[in-house]
Amino acid sequence: MPQQLEAIDINDLSLTSEEVEFDPQAEAFAFPPPPPEGDHLAVLLLGPQGFKRGTAKDGRPFITAYIEARIQAPGERWDDRPVFDNFVDTLISPFSGTCRMVGVLKALGRTVEARTKALELARALHAALLSQSQVSITVKWRGYCQNCGGETMKGARQFPATADGGHRAVGECPTCKGEVAAQARIVAYKPSNAGITPGGASSAASFDDVPF
Ligand SMILES: [Zn+2]
Repeated sequence: MPQQLEAIDINDLSLTSEEVEFDPQAEAFAFPPPPPEGDHLAVLLLGPQGFKRGTAKDGRPFITAYIEARIQAPGERWDDRPVFDNFVDTLISPFSGTCRMVGVLKALGRTVEARTKALELARALHAALLSQSQVSITVKWRGYCQNCGGETMKGARQFPATADGGHRAVGECPTCKGEVAAQARIVAYKPSNAGITPGGASSAASFDDVPF
């Protein structure tokens, strides 16, 4: 980022200049790809939109939190990259028997009563986020196609591979062949020590991923 700008006459022969070296193959207007798929350490913060309440299609009221996960990967290009999750909600899924907000609370090491109020879950989450605790998040890539009006790409493998083993942030919609930008989605939250502590599998067994 330029700190200070000064007008110059580029034909002034007394001017000196820095050397510039660039990658002739690089795309100047490409935007950075999302962090790679897989597990990352991240600090969880409450996103600018905070908490909202709404009503599901079946009439059930719920509260949802907007979470910002800041990836902790010192030395990597995606260090400090934010990944947003706009649906950490209190709707109990018939599939899992729990909700994403409880899953995030568990990842943050908080225990909550199995029978409680949505507002109490939201307050517990708010309090837990103030500590800026580290968790492990599982990231998957998704591509939303504006032409098709839906998510037509699931997984980084659907985006073109790059020479360094990664994937380009822009791919081709399999349905309409239009351009689709990759977005990172958080599909699970786990305690940051899950699987890292000695005897990982058994010590992490008391925690559940949040499937959806
Ligand atoms: Zn499409």
